[in-house]
Amino acid sequence: MRKIISTLLALLAVLAVGAGMTVVALTNGTPVAKDGSVSAFDRIGRAFTAAEVAARDRRYAANASSGRGEPDAVHWVDRTDSSPLVIVAPHAVNHHRDGEPKPADRYTGPIAEILARRLGASVLTTTGEVSDWNEQWDDRDDEFTRILHDLPDEAIIIDLHGMADSSAAEPISLGTGKKDSGPSMEIAEGIKDSFGGAAEINETFTAKAAYTDTRHMQGRGHDALQVEMAQSMRNPGDLNVGYTIDALEGALESLH
Ligand SMILES: [Zn+2]
Repeated sequence: MRKIISTLLALLAVLAVGAGMTVVALTNGTPVAKDGSVSAFDRIGRAFTAAEVAARDRRYAANASSGRGEPDAVHWVDRTDSSPLVIVAPHAVNHHRDGEPKPADRYTGPIAEILARRLGASVLTTTGEVSDWNEQWDDRDDEFTRILHDLPDEAIIIDLHGMADSSAAEPISLGTGKKDSGPSMEIAEGIKDSFGGAAEINETFTAKAAYTDTRHMQGRGHDALQVEMAQSMRNPGDLNVGYTIDALEGALESLH
């Protein structure tokens, strides 16, 4: 009996050291908090978030990022009864633009899922390659569009995308769409504050075509905001993804 107990204790010690080393390895990245004050608790939390992003990413990464689902398949969790926030990742898998295939906005799917779960918000992501809809919402006959069009009037759309690190002066670029959308601007300012000011508003993506979820849903009377995240803010190999999700959660939690 004694031998069994000491063997179990030794095994536990090995497991604990292994877990500790994993946490240390995962926390070697440098989150971009401007004031540099990241507690050990936050670092460990971000390491776990990065691991969750990687785990949830499997369904999106499958088939060379066309996703595990059939073409135009979606992941939809409806929490509109209890929260107006709807987190959307329309480019979580490969899609099309101007008739050309366009690679996935990597990790926006898992980021949307985790953010929505923490906020108690709804989440809509693409999990199967998105068809070429010729930049026309009127022609669309897919689950993604049907869900968006069935949302209650008070739903607020947070439209998550990925951009290259070199695309904008800041790692987060926010687009409020229609200029007169007051609540979108308030939400954008809140997100900018939450990232310690490291976000631009209506700069790089101001002149985007009308064919975006944000513009489309604003046209239907919703408040909506486009959030572009640099690659380095999304990659779970880099702890910034934990920081990114924490910062978005902090900015959005007052809205739900
Ligand atoms: Zn996108």
